[in-house]
Amino acid sequence: MLERLKLEVLEQNLELPENRLVVGSGGNVSGRDRETGLVVIKPSGVKFSRLSKESLVVVDLDGNVIEGVMKPSVDTGIHLYIYKQRDDVSGITHTHSPYATSFAARGENIPAVLTPITHMLGRDIPCSRYATAGEVDTGRAVIEAAAGGKAALVKAHGVFTMGSSATEATNIAIYLEEAAKTTHLALLRGPVEELPKEEVERCYQWFCENYGQSGRKKVDV
Ligand SMILES: [Zn+2]
Repeated sequence: MLERLKLEVLEQNLELPENRLVVGSGGNVSGRDRETGLVVIKPSGVKFSRLSKESLVVVDLDGNVIEGVMKPSVDTGIHLYIYKQRDDVSGITHTHSPYATSFAARGENIPAVLTPITHMLGRDIPCSRYATAGEVDTGRAVIEAAAGGKAALVKAHGVFTMGSSATEATNIAIYLEEAAKTTHLALLRGPVEELPKEEVERCYQWFCENYGQSGRKKVDV
């Protein structure tokens, strides 16, 4: 099981440069093994192009290294704090993707103006208070701002997304950056109307029930 999780965490880390969400070695993906409670995370300071399954680090929720020869990401404490607070989360993705982070630089939420992202998140993308990068306080800021949701910007820093798997968290990070870019472009041409809260919630429920290959097969017409 842990070997399968390592492969998933490796693949999802590689999605970050593939989707232009990161540069150099910045950003990271982790995944939690539900059986053992152990977390697989990217090693610190290693470029994405040099990552391998063997270079990933396995830690317990207290941060003890269980497997791996490299030091875990400097953001490991943040990931572990989030896992401890959120039992529903088994995957976390962190990036400094430029359009989303430009909202974080201004301490602004990304408003709920585009259905592709509101279908996934059921709300706008909140921005947290300032917290020092790399410190556990960033985990607290994410938990506070996300308020049970799947994404938060951290003021003056970047993006944290959470999911039931590393794959879901990374998918959200990819679509979040697309939404941030499009919203930014739209705002350049003037004010943009936010979607009504009830409509966002209705569409989110519909998406949760119908997206993908599981769940209901019949499409309402
Ligand atoms: Zn960061």
